[in-house]
Amino acid sequence: MKIIEQEPLSKHTTFRIGGPARYFCSPRNISELKKALQFAKESKLNVFIIGAGSNLLAADRGYRGLVIHPKLANIELKKTGVTAEAGVPIQHLLATLAENGLTGLEFITGIPGAVGGSVAMNAGMGNEEIGEKVVRVWALNKEGKEKIILKKRCGFGYRKSIFQKQKLIISKVEFKLKKGKTPEIRSRIRERWERRLASQPYDLPSAGSVFRNPGRDFAGRLIEAAGLKGKKIGGAQISRKHANFIVNLGRAKARDVLSLMRTAKKTVRKKFAVGLRPEIVELR
Ligand SMILES: Cc1cc2nc3c(=O)[nH]c(=O)nc-3n(C[C@H](O)[C@H](O)[C@H](O)COP(=O)(O)OP(=O)(O)OC[C@H]3O[C@@H](n4cnc5c(N)ncnc54)[C@H](O)[C@@H]3O)c2cc1C
Repeated sequence: MKIIEQEPLSKHTTFRIGGPARYFCSPRNISELKKALQFAKESKLNVFIIGAGSNLLAADRGYRGLVIHPKLANIELKKTGVTAEAGVPIQHLLATLAENGLTGLEFITGIPGAVGGSVAMNAGMGNEEIGEKVVRVWALNKEGKEKIILKKRCGFGYRKSIFQKQKLIISKVEFKLKKGKTPEIRSRIRERWERRLASQPYDLPSAGSVFRNPGRDFAGRLIEAAGLKGKKIGGAQISRKHANFIVNLGRAKARDVLSLMRTAKKTVRKKFAVGLRPEIVELR
């Protein structure tokens, strides 16, 4: 495993934004993951874990520590479940489950994350969240010690889990599923894709929903009602298709996205007395 220096984070985030990571590596197994942690410890570096980088806003000046991008990619199918390693892209997992007649995760159709990042974010859609399907999580602490964490100890809440504190690195997750019929599962996936493509801007780089939905309301509805749909700052724009998405029109900087976020927050607070909280995570 190579540890690369000055790797542009824009190459590893769906926003296509971010300066260089001082050090960057992509471990493919547990032993490489442990080596990466050892390197960080010896060099006294801060560590940030990234998955598919689909919920991240990486700073323009980059990251001064070690960015670890786990690429562990095994999938182990069971009769009514699956164990998938952290680096497996969620959409690939979903296609594999459909092919093998396993149902229960179709609601994550269209989410461009990896297994580790999606569990860390407790990604979801509507009332469904990936954490509900988790049985247990295998993780390493910064010392490289392996732990098994049962679902009830994962601290799952709305886009929340204990794994967001950068103290535990998910290596593998077991999900509980049900048996289903491949054509029916595939048709549910197709339907969900159609709904997403109609309502969300998949044609431009973004990091998905920028703000969490406040209470029973929707951040997108509030930002749109505040008249901010289509607003641009630098190379970033509040999407015309979905106001809770900020899109990169080509040359956006993290500072452009942050300015738009501040504008949205301020305007929504002033007009509706509602405080918006970010869903995207800053890598800085
Ligand atoms: C077009 C689009 C649509 C989206 N739609 C949705 C949606 O419907 N619902 C939804 O919930 N999200 C959505 N998202 C956001 C994003 O895809 C999800 O949050 C996704 O699950 C994040 O996974 P990731 O692997 O990209 O994580 P990253 O963005 O790489 O990381 C997110 C967080 O997880 C941590 N992390 C990553 N990997 C690990 C690991 N192995 N161990 C411990 N911590 C880790 C990171 O440190 C960070 O705190 C969307 C994004 C886009 C671009």
